[in-house]
Amino acid sequence: MAQETLTIALSKGRIFKETLPLLKAAGIEPVDDPETSRKLILDTTRDDVKIVIIRATDVPTYVQYGAADLGVTGKDVLMEHGGEGLYELLDLHIAMCKLMVAGFADKPLPTGTIHVATKFVNCARQYFSSQGRQVEIIKLYGSMELAPIVGLADCIVDVVDTGSTLKANGLVPLEHMFDVSSRMVVNKASMKTRNVAIKAMLKQIESAVKQK
Ligand code: AMP
Repeated sequence: MAQETLTIALSKGRIFKETLPLLKAAGIEPVDDPETSRKLILDTTRDDVKIVIIRATDVPTYVQYGAADLGVTGKDVLMEHGGEGLYELLDLHIAMCKLMVAGFADKPLPTGTIHVATKFVNCARQYFSSQGRQVEIIKLYGSMELAPIVGLADCIVDVVDTGSTLKANGLVPLEHMFDVSSRMVVNKASMKTRNVAIKAMLKQIESAVKQK
C-alpha cells in the first residue's frame, strides 16, 4: 500500500529557519529553499512528508480544515484564530516575542474608551474586556506604530521583540499581554487517523527542542 503523506504548514522567514533544525531531527529536510524557490509545496527527504509554504496567519486555518496535518505558528496567531479544530502539541521555544500594548510614555491611556489599533483584534478585545476596560478596536494590517503618531489611536497592540521598532517611532511598551513562541499544531482528525506517524515525529522533534 502506498504511504500516506503528512503535510506540514510553515511560513517563510524566521519560523522556517528556526523550525528547520527541529524537523531535521525527525529526518525531514526540504529539497528546495523557499527563500529562493517559488514553489509552495516542497518535497522533503522523507517520502511521506511534504511542506506547504503559507503565511503564518493562515497556518491555523489550513490545519483546522485538514489541508495540512500539522503546522508551526506563533501563539499570538493561535490566540487570534481561536484554536478551533486543532490541538496545540508542542511549544518549540522559537521565534520568541511578546504581545504588548504600546503607546506614548508621557500620555496615559484614557479612562473612558481607549482607541486601539491592531491586527490582533480578538486578542485585544479579550484582554481589555477581561479588565472591564472599554475599547474601540481599529483593525490595521501593518505599520501599527504609525496609528498613535497620526492620532488614529491611543495605543497599539502588537508583537514586540527587542522594542527597537517602537523606540524608533517614539513609542514605549505599556502593558505586557502574554509571551509568544511558536507552537506545533495538529488537525484533530489527523491526530486520530495518523496517530502513530505523528507521535513518532513529535517525539523526535520534542527531544531536539529539549537539546537546544
Ligand atoms: P522589535 O523591533 O525587535 O521589537 O520587533 C518588532 C517587529 O518585528 C514587530 O512589529 C513584528 O512585526 C516583528 N516581530 C518580531 N518578533 C516577531 C515574532 N516572533 N513573530 C512575528 N513578528 C515578529
